[in-house]
Amino acid sequence: MPHADMDLDEALAVAHLPALLAALVHVTGDAGWLKPEWAPTYVPLSQGDPGLPQEVQQEIRDKAKVALGHFRASGKVSVASPDAPTLRRMMDFVAGAPIPEQYAPFLIDELAVSGTSSKDPQFEQPQLKAAARKLKTLVIGAGMSGLLTGIRLKQAGVSFEIIESNPDVGGTWLVNTYPGCRVDNSNHMYSYSFEPNHAWPQHFSPQPELLKYFRNVAAKYDIRPHIRFETTVESLSWDEGRGVWRVSVRGKDGKSEVIEANAVVTAVGQLNKPRVPNIEGVDSFAGPAFHSQRWRHDVELAGKRVAVIGTGASAYQFVPEIAPKVAQLTVFQRTPPWGLPVPHYHEDVPEGVKWLLEHVPYYDKWYRFWLFWMSTEGFLPMVKADEGWNGPTTAVGAENLGLREMAAAALAAQVADRPDLLPNVVPTYPVGGKRAVLDNGVWLGALKRPNVSLVTDAITKITPKGVVTADGTEHEVDVLIYGTGFTASSFLSGLKVTGRDGRDLHDVWKGDARAYLGMTTPGFPNFFMIYGPNTNIVVNGSIIFFSECSVRYIVGCLRLLAETGAKAMEAKKDVHDAFNIRVDEANKGWAWGSPNVTSWYKNEFGRVSQNWPFGLIDYWRATLAPNPDDFVLTRQPEPVA
Ligand code: NAP
Repeated sequence: MPHADMDLDEALAVAHLPALLAALVHVTGDAGWLKPEWAPTYVPLSQGDPGLPQEVQQEIRDKAKVALGHFRASGKVSVASPDAPTLRRMMDFVAGAPIPEQYAPFLIDELAVSGTSSKDPQFEQPQLKAAARKLKTLVIGAGMSGLLTGIRLKQAGVSFEIIESNPDVGGTWLVNTYPGCRVDNSNHMYSYSFEPNHAWPQHFSPQPELLKYFRNVAAKYDIRPHIRFETTVESLSWDEGRGVWRVSVRGKDGKSEVIEANAVVTAVGQLNKPRVPNIEGVDSFAGPAFHSQRWRHDVELAGKRVAVIGTGASAYQFVPEIAPKVAQLTVFQRTPPWGLPVPHYHEDVPEGVKWLLEHVPYYDKWYRFWLFWMSTEGFLPMVKADEGWNGPTTAVGAENLGLREMAAAALAAQVADRPDLLPNVVPTYPVGGKRAVLDNGVWLGALKRPNVSLVTDAITKITPKGVVTADGTEHEVDVLIYGTGFTASSFLSGLKVTGRDGRDLHDVWKGDARAYLGMTTPGFPNFFMIYGPNTNIVVNGSIIFFSECSVRYIVGCLRLLAETGAKAMEAKKDVHDAFNIRVDEANKGWAWGSPNVTSWYKNEFGRVSQNWPFGLIDYWRATLAPNPDDFVLTRQPEPVA
């Protein structure tokens, strides 16, 4: 972390000026910093450039320098809390456009301007605390969402245990170690809202940094003693008479044991079961073959002929890393990815920014607010389908077409010197149809290398020597790497869950997983999922936001059990079904729901089983607290004291 007396000019030179001006309102107690002539005018994909003339930017920096100098000299620690109308003005100012009124309470909560958030568990009365202690909860998984659940349950006073099959915390950030693996959401947003990290080394930090963050959080909240590592949950079954889940786990010694719990939370992630395509001869390849998530660090790639199948988010990160090392790289592409220009994708966070985040009160919150707004609700209109759209099928609406043109031009500019690549690197599906990747030029830079070839003919066969394509060519290689993604639609695969009346969850779902708010399914009392069906996002924001909302709701459900003395709660079928109808209908209104798109967001029935089709505000609102009317509550004969 940069020292406290850092040169202000150095810090101000790299400040996000709208966030700085909002912070100065707190620092000085003067809303006069929100001058209309200093208001930003962003253009899409401009990465926060406020669009102000250089002399105006310098004027802001000069005035900010004086104000921050006074603040520093005063030694003050407390700053002003603007009233609600001023906060509204500050939001509009930083966002660069008026934010709809309904968003104000949501964003104020996200900012935690008052120092508290609706996500903090509220089990304040002693009676509730006593009841909470009796509710044993079993959490499956110690990745991002499992750790979060542990932290919140601990804060609520609910006794809990976490079962983790890996030897450490971190989930996806533990198991994905392929070269170039890094977060593709801004790190200052991809972190728990209550655990900001002002020292992120990069805007999109590499995997080891993410793993370090989650390990540090686990240590800070002392969650490890609650975790059984290298232990696998084999099956769960609901004991209706006693109102408990009986969970069979197998430890690293191979012995099975049954743990009983009042509630179960699955925090098993979703993109974790590698999908190796069912191509003829897939097992016949004679050399090393592995999936991106099971990277073989023992396989030396230098000087080898390497094939990569797939061009999704994982391949997009590791191809540029391995391309300079290998003798020959053949990339097999079925569909090109949309890249959105993000020039600072691999850049370090300047020391001045770290200083501002750490030392200027509220700068971190307003910077996060800006990232949040611009990459979430502020971005959504660009992937919305216009009703009755009769424009080209390469877009779903007018704004989407505009975005397409901008993104396509950025891709075309990169291959101006290789026109042969152009037809194969600009997707024909709408932007937002699949996960877009962040483009700083390294992907197409790799594809343009003389030792790299992009093959777009369909793969027909894998042989001991390599990959055969539809044109009959056998591409001979030494190593085969699958960047072919995950079996994401198979929610909770490998987990046998037997609910009320002996119902098997996978028999109920029949491959078409559904849940109420992504978390609960009728017939499975006190069973809660995080990152369950229809809680994913394509373009708008960080999955941590969803996990925090889900955990708040789940803790709220446990609170409801404690308050009412009920032994079990399960979603009403009509509530669940009506919700899913709304979800399916709404998913048609977005680029990812377009019939012109195939992706892992859709299941084998073509249903979008992954995505939340409403705004983030809607998930935030829907998960503030459970509505008791949505549930069947089964009372205990004797209420909890
Ligand atoms: P993916 O996005 O599902 O990409 C799989 C790739 O394999 C696609 O290009 C797909 O082509 C191709 N493919 C599949 N079967 C094929 C076949 N039989 N023949 C030829 N090509 C085939 O998987 P991923 O790249 O591992 O990413 C999955 C998700 O993980 C991402 O969407 C993202 O949410 C997450 N992720 C995040 C990060 C990050 O934050 N840093 C990094 C990596 C992944 P089609 O497109 O034609 O199906």
